[in-house]
Amino acid sequence: MLRDAYNRTIRDLRISLTDRCNFRCFYCLPHGEPSWAYKEKLLTLEELAFVCEVFVSLGITKIRLTGGEPLIRRDVDVLVEKLSRLKPDLADIALTTNGYDFVRQSEALWSAGLDRVTFSIDSLRPDRFQEITGVDALGRVLDSIDVAKRLGFAPVKVNAVVVRGRNDDELVDFARFARENDVSFRFIEFMPLDSGHEWNRDMVVAGREVHDAINEVFPLQLKEASRGSSTAWNYTFVDSAPGEIGIITPVTNQFCGACSRIRLTADGQIRTCLFSAAEYDLRGVVRSGASREEIADFIRAAVMKKEPGHRINDPAFVQPERTMSFIGG
Ligand code: SAM
Ligand code: SF4
Repeated sequence: MLRDAYNRTIRDLRISLTDRCNFRCFYCLPHGEPSWAYKEKLLTLEELAFVCEVFVSLGITKIRLTGGEPLIRRDVDVLVEKLSRLKPDLADIALTTNGYDFVRQSEALWSAGLDRVTFSIDSLRPDRFQEITGVDALGRVLDSIDVAKRLGFAPVKVNAVVVRGRNDDELVDFARFARENDVSFRFIEFMPLDSGHEWNRDMVVAGREVHDAINEVFPLQLKEASRGSSTAWNYTFVDSAPGEIGIITPVTNQFCGACSRIRLTADGQIRTCLFSAAEYDLRGVVRSGASREEIADFIRAAVMKKEPGHRINDPAFVQPERTMSFIGG
């Protein structure tokens, strides 16, 4: 088992497949990323499959593929198929995508063994969706959700980053969408990880406020054993309507004490926290011809350095140099 110095067990690996994206969400990549990782720095699919095998042998049971936009990388289904061979030790293979190209790739991903998919929708109004993401694509993302449900992905999750003055008037609409479409709608507090460095505390809408706004119209009940090492507080509707609400509060109610996650950046660096100042060069180790045991030792040593918690709320907090699309959300 992978354990850190604070006795947390690490079971969950998030991999950014690419730092590139076809959207320009204002809270993530508003101006595009000036320094895309060079292709030769990205771990190849074979390298990714190999390091995942080592991670799983150490006790990782969940892998989430993310980015940037993971589906702009070629052959993601081939990687999923390779990861599927690690089941049942690897219990869960998940994908977070903006949904733009999901319909085209959906059947291949399903057949390859992808277990779960999460989409992002920050507005249900087409004009506002375009304003937020830079792309007129709400219809495509809604189609992706339909196709995911039809194929049998369950539960389908949808993420929204709630930002004051931008989409905080849609909270009840999002909840209604969850009920009508039987999806798990997850509300994420805006974190200081935007490449435009425009985050400020006034833009953060606290999870408590999200809960209260929805609860007033559609009463919510906390699911038993809701949080554990999960990032979300999960709720069902009191009237037993379909769908769920998840509230993710990294800023106002941090969950670092129960964190079970570790991350691999698009260019093969281990990060032990979204807000880490340090990275561990797994790509360098893999490409140096290290043995499987040496790679395992390297991973164990990196995990031991996992920080006790993030420090967004410290007056001296400094936004990490690498932003969300690089690290993998
Ligand atoms: N491109 C894919 C997508 O948008 O779903 C996957 C990568 S994206 C970085 C993963 C998740 O991180 C998305 O749900 C996105 O909304 C969220 N995210 C991005 N920047 C964020 C920020 N500054 N604060 C909170 N969440 C953020
Ligand atoms: Fe791209 Fe996802 Fe970031 Fe939006 S949140 S810019 S879709 S990586």
